[in-house]
Amino acid sequence: MKCPKCKKNLQTKRTTAGTDKVSRERYCAKCKTPLKTIELFKMDFDKMIHDAESETMTAKGQAEYAQNKYSTLKEAIKTIIKSAGEK
Ligand SMILES: [Zn+2]
Repeated sequence: MKCPKCKKNLQTKRTTAGTDKVSRERYCAKCKTPLKTIELFKMDFDKMIHDAESETMTAKGQAEYAQNKYSTLKEAIKTIIKSAGEK
């Protein structure tokens, strides 16, 4: 970064990192102009939505699998009960 007044390179005095931004206190070594900059982190919303969607799909698939297993088991139990009653 360059000084807006004399175009000399700025020195970084202090860097404060947060969860969503980084603020830097800079100053010009020549004319002592202070400058504060804030850098915001870019959030990748598309990727976040995609990840959430694939997690939902996985959960749905697992639920269907469990449901299928359960109905197979239910049928098996019914068959056992039926055959036990026939004896
Ligand atoms: Zn300057």
